[in-house]
Amino acid sequence: MKLKQFSIPTISTLSTRHSLITLPPEIFLNICKHLPPFDLFSLSRVCRLFYNDLCLGESVTIQEIWRQSRLVFMPYRQMGPPEGMNEKEYVRFLVEDKCYFCGKRNKSSRIYWERGVRSCFECLKTRTKTQEELIESKIVPPAVLHLLPCSYTRSIPIFWLDQIMPKHEEFKRLNSQECLAWMEKQRIITEQIEKEMDLRFFEDMAAKKVQKTERKRAIDAKLNELCLEKNENGTCRYLRKYLDQCHSLKNSYKYTRPFTEKAWKLLKRKLAKEYLQLIELEKENVSSQRSVELALEKVVYWID
Ligand SMILES: [Zn+2]
Repeated sequence: MKLKQFSIPTISTLSTRHSLITLPPEIFLNICKHLPPFDLFSLSRVCRLFYNDLCLGESVTIQEIWRQSRLVFMPYRQMGPPEGMNEKEYVRFLVEDKCYFCGKRNKSSRIYWERGVRSCFECLKTRTKTQEELIESKIVPPAVLHLLPCSYTRSIPIFWLDQIMPKHEEFKRLNSQECLAWMEKQRIITEQIEKEMDLRFFEDMAAKKVQKTERKRAIDAKLNELCLEKNENGTCRYLRKYLDQCHSLKNSYKYTRPFTEKAWKLLKRKLAKEYLQLIELEKENVSSQRSVELALEKVVYWID
């Protein structure tokens, strides 16, 4: 099949899928270089062949596809993958908001670079201890706590038990001659990790800003469409000034996840309910204000 028969991807359609399957691999990979991460993942889920091409290979070409996709479509992520991750794994890590431990999508989940995972708050609680807890319970001597970078939750330093305990075991096995040299080596490693964490933290901040802006733009586009909907009598079903007062809308702006059709359906349902409540409240306010005005008019009449 010639390249001109391929039109840029409606990747989920069956006809396109067949067109893509019959493309020579080099052309297929060349097309992939221009796709954003989400489309690459969608494409890899279309069939086993695409999955093998995009996800199983460790080849330089495949890793380069994911790298290009990250740099072009996520320009705020210039740093390469952390140690132990290839490009494809790194991109998945950045875009998927699943908790590494429980596998659930959770609003509280966030990246903890020190542990190299994305975790929800519940899983974090069971797998970490605060610096204070570790010192008070004497599980780990304070000296060992300085040998690992800590994570933070609500500005409180915490340590991952599966990192700190092996470090403690290592520490216990040392004799007095080895101890100083080992601690110095650990200190240097920790310093290097902390420097990298700082840079990744700045990228996280930049990513959040861009993702929130993109999400807000997507929500506002949907709201504009919603404000065009008419009632049976031809008047607007929704007014933006009341929509803007809805808590569900304010909450929805806070997140960084891409705003999907599914998220819009959910939000629209909540907005419709809240909107009605606001209008009822507004009517009550107007009517009670009118009652006060009438009462005042009567008082003025009697005084006169
Ligand atoms: Zn979890």
